[in-house]
Amino acid sequence: MSVKIYNSLSKKKEELVPIKDKTINIYSCGVTVYDKCHIGHARSLYIFDVIKNYLKYRGYKVNFVRNITDVDDKIIKKANDLKKTFDEVVRENILLYENDLKSLGIPKADFEPRATENIPEMIEYIKALIEKGYAYESHGDVYFSVRKFKDYGKLSGQSIDKMLEAVRIEEDKRKKDPLDFALWKKSKENEPFWESPWGKGRPGWHIECSVMSMKYLKCETLDIHAGGRDLVFPHHENEITQSEALTGKPFAKYWIHHGLLTINGQKMAKSLGNFITVQDALKKYDVNDLKMFFLMSHYASPIDFTQEKFLEVKKVLYKFGSLFNQEVPVTTEAAKAPFVEEKLRQFEEAMDDDFNTPKALGVLFELLSETTKMFNQTGNEKDKFRFLLGAINAIQKIFKEIFGLNLVGRKGELTQEQEFLLQDRINAKNKKDFKRSDELRDQLKIMGIIVEDGKDGQKWRRA
Ligand SMILES: [Zn+2]
Repeated sequence: MSVKIYNSLSKKKEELVPIKDKTINIYSCGVTVYDKCHIGHARSLYIFDVIKNYLKYRGYKVNFVRNITDVDDKIIKKANDLKKTFDEVVRENILLYENDLKSLGIPKADFEPRATENIPEMIEYIKALIEKGYAYESHGDVYFSVRKFKDYGKLSGQSIDKMLEAVRIEEDKRKKDPLDFALWKKSKENEPFWESPWGKGRPGWHIECSVMSMKYLKCETLDIHAGGRDLVFPHHENEITQSEALTGKPFAKYWIHHGLLTINGQKMAKSLGNFITVQDALKKYDVNDLKMFFLMSHYASPIDFTQEKFLEVKKVLYKFGSLFNQEVPVTTEAAKAPFVEEKLRQFEEAMDDDFNTPKALGVLFELLSETTKMFNQTGNEKDKFRFLLGAINAIQKIFKEIFGLNLVGRKGELTQEQEFLLQDRINAKNKKDFKRSDELRDQLKIMGIIVEDGKDGQKWRRA
């Protein structure tokens, strides 16, 4: 059995065959550090970490690079808005980003290159594109001549004319063609700049990823290039174009894109007041809850973030958590019963099929219920413990090594029922059903849980 992956480039599910031996080189477009990370970023960071972990579990050596874009129009705008220096904005947001990764329990990539640390390589790259006739200098900017590259549009699957409609076309006399994109931008006054053959300026966003991926993965064709679906056009299309124009080789063998995240069916936007940062989410939900929420959808599907879904998440985690908290004698040797082996095989089958985490979780759920069933049957107590331990070990290994979940000792301060009642009350309040929310508050009070409403939502304490 081999891993199959949906390739956004061929628009087909393909067998994953590494370019070289059993090594897989993955590049994932990272964050632009102009603001706090939101839960959409958390999904991206987490889901590609899970995919990387699974490939390692399947015996591949994985080299993983995730960049940090630390020079961009958005950062410059932010610095001007906040009356801060460019460096301050970058420094602050990198610290916040690193703190988010830590809070999410997502390890660093093998390399986390920053764009500004690779400017000389970007200049060389642009020079070579000009020499090959693919790029031209104009008033201190350098542009890529899109129409010189015959395959332009092969990732996003659009014709040049369609793309012309899609890009915001402002009358720009510096470009030969409205579709041409900037490789190098002349810096305006008070903007960060680097010296270049075309004067003081800074790199465009797309060139950063092409340069850093090849440099840190030490190859001209990556095995997997990953990112959000919103990056397909123009970012990834342009990465492909300039890279393939330069090397004459495919830029990446497989392109994978995760689906986007909405909040209660709406796009997340500060202007809509529904922007949820990673830290906001972690104030409300346990990190395992958040991860389980992501796993319960296929990575490529859109995902809608709603309070109600966390009720389901809590149920799932509660059931797995109960298994983890079984008292198993540590001296008992683990044994894998045939049904454990069979479920592990099915788990791999689901994950091999384009990392189908919802299906894979379903298999683990079956393993959980069969283990419980077996445990309640009569039989040799010692054997039962050995099998139970075998099942726990198998699930624990998957949870820890692939999903980055930690349920060991997750006893929770509340019973499952109390957690449900609290969640129900949040839902009732959201629906402005105050009669129901009062009833639930009284019910919890009888259980010794006092609920209070504050500006950050409901809080509870023991009576
Ligand atoms: Zn990128």
